[in-house]
Amino acid sequence: MTQQDFDAKHLWHPYTNVAKPGPTHLVTSANGVHLTLEDGTKMIDAMSSWWSAIHGYGQPSIIQAVKDQADRMPHVMFGGLTHDPAISLGQKLLAITPPSMQRIFYSDSGSVAVEVAMKMAVQYQHAFGYPDKTQFVTVRSGYHGDTWKAMSVCDPVTGMHHVFQNALSVQHFAPKPPICITDEWSEDPAKNGLSDLHQLLESHHQTIAALILEPVVQGAGGMYFYHPEYLNQARAICDAFSVLLIFDEIATGFGRTGKMFATELTTIEPDILCLGKALTGGTMSFAATLTSDKVATSIGNGNPGVFMHGPTFMANPLACAAACASLDLLKTTSWQANVDAIATQLNHELAPLRSLPHVFDVRVLGAIGVIEMDHQVSADQAHPLSKKLGVWLRPFGRHIYCMPPFTISPDELSQVTNAMGKLAEVL
Ligand code: PMP
Repeated sequence: MTQQDFDAKHLWHPYTNVAKPGPTHLVTSANGVHLTLEDGTKMIDAMSSWWSAIHGYGQPSIIQAVKDQADRMPHVMFGGLTHDPAISLGQKLLAITPPSMQRIFYSDSGSVAVEVAMKMAVQYQHAFGYPDKTQFVTVRSGYHGDTWKAMSVCDPVTGMHHVFQNALSVQHFAPKPPICITDEWSEDPAKNGLSDLHQLLESHHQTIAALILEPVVQGAGGMYFYHPEYLNQARAICDAFSVLLIFDEIATGFGRTGKMFATELTTIEPDILCLGKALTGGTMSFAATLTSDKVATSIGNGNPGVFMHGPTFMANPLACAAACASLDLLKTTSWQANVDAIATQLNHELAPLRSLPHVFDVRVLGAIGVIEMDHQVSADQAHPLSKKLGVWLRPFGRHIYCMPPFTISPDELSQVTNAMGKLAEVL
């Protein structure tokens, strides 16, 4: 049995059917923007391993930081103990996140960071004497992860509600923000979607702990960019109904939109902020949930006072060391100029694809380029062609999209946009 036969027979991959697992490529190494396959093929990773490898692979300073930390202490429990990597990372995070974010809870993955955020919101409301405020509001087309509570606030149609319908907590869904980032904002609440949100909160605020949103960029729920003004006004509506505002920046954080955080496209700050994915520069799984002193101390003053979460690998020193090195790279490299240049080139090279017969829309924000087709496209069908074109693309739904490492060169990016165009022609 070859390695790949074993894989097909025994290993589950994301969202796959074991009976029909679909094609997989055997990757043997990753360097710069390239993945090298067992047969020697090199592909540009236009996905940055699902938004995470922002500096490309094998960045010497990140690798060295992990090696040094592995020599010193790969892990110790965080209950009753602390360590320099966690503290240094905390200092670096507070220096770049919105000023009101003052308390940090480290966890293992984005979905867990969302669970933690939702628990924080419920414990906060409980502490304020609102034990019935346990539900959540969100907008359609969102995605927040695959664990139970996170899944309950994913889009009810494109998410997993149909499979787990009877097992999921019931949440409240406003329509997806209707005005996109490139369109003019309308103050008419019937047109900008805020009257729907207002109505939901007005009717249900007694039972609602928080509004959870991906700021500006909806990722896995639809690769859609909405107007930041929606968030500014949503903040005021939340305040009026004593509902917390959670921003899930797991996909958008660390430069992807052209700002360090998508929150910077708005004039407001959330009460709770979830970070993950690119936090370690794509080196390993790690996440953080940040909140304000107000939320944290309110939880502390409530009953039981302690915050009820504590994963075994909380603040894993290896992950903290990788994250510190990644944040140092963001400080010392010209990531913002790179992302701006990527955005310009993506706009220039993807725009002509609008005229292809089955292309519904083309959109770009920062280092994110999206071709939306007028029909569903198959990732399995895309595999052989994208391999032949030397570019790793994994379309989903109606979307052929890229979010390359910020270190990609103009020629490599042209290879990516060319491959996206070819996929849009044939899929
Ligand atoms: N929130 C958002 C916005 C995401 O894009 C993702 C991952 N795609 C998650 C949460 C969940 O993160 P993870 O896969 O690390 O659990």
